[in-house]
Amino acid sequence: MREISRCEICGSDTLNPVFEGRDMFSPLDSYPVMECAACRTRQTALQPEPEDLDLIYPPSYYGTNNRKFHRAIDSFLRFVCRGRCQHVARFFKAPGAILDVGCGSGLFLEYFRRQGWNVTGLELSENAAGKARLHIGDDAVRVGDFDRIELPESSFDAVVFWHVFEHLPRPRQCLDKVNKILKPGGMLVIAVPDSDSAQARMGRNKWFHLDVPRHVFHYSEKTLLNLLGMHGFQVTDVSHHSLEYNPFGLLQTMFNWCFPENEVYNLLRNRSAKLDSQGTLPSPGECRFFLRNFRFSLELISFLSLFPAAFVASFVLELCRQGGCITVCARNGPISPG
Ligand SMILES: [Zn+2]
Repeated sequence: MREISRCEICGSDTLNPVFEGRDMFSPLDSYPVMECAACRTRQTALQPEPEDLDLIYPPSYYGTNNRKFHRAIDSFLRFVCRGRCQHVARFFKAPGAILDVGCGSGLFLEYFRRQGWNVTGLELSENAAGKARLHIGDDAVRVGDFDRIELPESSFDAVVFWHVFEHLPRPRQCLDKVNKILKPGGMLVIAVPDSDSAQARMGRNKWFHLDVPRHVFHYSEKTLLNLLGMHGFQVTDVSHHSLEYNPFGLLQTMFNWCFPENEVYNLLRNRSAKLDSQGTLPSPGECRFFLRNFRFSLELISFLSLFPAAFVASFVLELCRQGGCITVCARNGPISPG
């Protein structure tokens, strides 16, 4: 891991400590989060080098056959993915070429392919790319690091980073590359957790979407828009809505203050994708026979009872631009001065 000494966004050498976050896949490891005094961007003080990736993305991060969650959760995610596709597709009058960086299962691109788009998905490893190949075909999936992989210039109408951009250790180089590969007037779509949201401020180092050390940067609407402006992008739309991330993130964050961290989230994950059980997290056996465990039963029943309230609260927070995540759409354009 590389220790940062200056802000990777603006170059300032004044970084103030905010708190230490714990790795949910390795709960005994913690990572300081720093905030730049100049541009206010939060960044994890220890940033992964290429040789660290296997360590911080263990096989359980992806699950067997890229199945992270139980079947019912996968069905729900498939449902919300369609809404995500429609959100992006409405900005285009006709199909074009789209690149999804960190395409996961490929569901997002499958929708666009059916609408007549020329689709390309990018994943970090062959293991992660396997499921995407099933959905969109071998030829449409490429394996490699976005920084290093060769992509044709001015060739895409849309480039999408869906909860991927916060994982990238060199966002400025990344945006330079996006500017090169997008056609003039093409669209960049970035969805990230919002580090200035109500659930982030309430949760602090127990915020469910903090996810250190995989999340290298912790953007707010202000810091992300500032970064996009530095690279000449014209922001056309900012959404705080996420059915997939906001209600669950809000409730799991609240529960992280009262119970061992991310226990309910662990229960929802596929058997091959459980969080590390060396720390305070329950083993799969405990989850399966939860009635033997009074505390865990209490937690689960409370969680299910409070979920409708969390859903309503998230909706209200989204209306106040305080959802747990932000999705920004921006067009590339002339570089603005400064
Ligand atoms: Zn800075």
